[in-house]
Amino acid sequence: MALLTPFTFSQSSLQDYGDCSRRFQLRYIDQLSWPAIESEPLLEGEKHQQEGQLFHRLIQQYFLGLPIDKLAKHANTPDLARWWKNFIVWSKDLSAHPDSERFHPESTLSMPIGSHRLLAKYDLLIVADNHARIYDWKTNAKRPREDWLAARWQTRVYRSLLTRAGSHLNAGQPLIPEQIEMVYWFAEYPSEPAIFKYDSKQFKRDWSAIQKAVKEIGSAREFPMVDDEKTCRFCTYRSYCNRGSKAGTLDEGFGDLAAEDGFDVNHEQIGEIDF
Ligand code: SF4
Repeated sequence: MALLTPFTFSQSSLQDYGDCSRRFQLRYIDQLSWPAIESEPLLEGEKHQQEGQLFHRLIQQYFLGLPIDKLAKHANTPDLARWWKNFIVWSKDLSAHPDSERFHPESTLSMPIGSHRLLAKYDLLIVADNHARIYDWKTNAKRPREDWLAARWQTRVYRSLLTRAGSHLNAGQPLIPEQIEMVYWFAEYPSEPAIFKYDSKQFKRDWSAIQKAVKEIGSAREFPMVDDEKTCRFCTYRSYCNRGSKAGTLDEGFGDLAAEDGFDVNHEQIGEIDF
């Protein structure tokens, strides 16, 4: 079976294809979901995922202007309380910004790419004075390396799509790559954000890579399994591929990064949390 047109690509689906094209097929073409647990222990993984979603929701509500004391009541687990405290201290400079209209929490951008679409959901965009900063909140137990983050589709898609489709956030003026930067802020490491500036050369490289990947996936008829079986240990589709029944553990070095991917925040789910 081939990909239906038009398909809406995101950093997650591009990353799935990059990690294992078979995973892309199972998830987006066959639309199979969650046949195996992704990491051990299961309860700990689920708890981390739920707390991550609630944390994103708390920050979104914070930027929409809800009172801090009302929000703080929902940070009611040890992890959430620690993340929230770190966020409130760190965000003081941000919230002192004079023009709140420049803050765009939980924003979505999309545009056509070939016969498909490309979409990105941003945790927070701040656009002011011909300068744009993308913020992404991460709850990794271990801080990922800079080179690992730089190579992720998220870093490439978020910056390039803002360059291509963000002019309405900048009073109708196109943003050039040199005006854009992306910040991964880590709730466990509040004073160690990963900051990625951007330039025209990187943008040209990223956009060309995105177009190439979209074209390749759109015309693919075969989706082979990844050679490196280490990738499979944190994949929900192990049973479909005969790649083992035992999940990797959250405290393994690789597992921590894989778990963060698997727990990529679903903004639709966030919206259902009751405040
Ligand atoms: S189990 Fe391995 S081969 Fe199968 S979809 Fe997952 S990563 Fe790919």
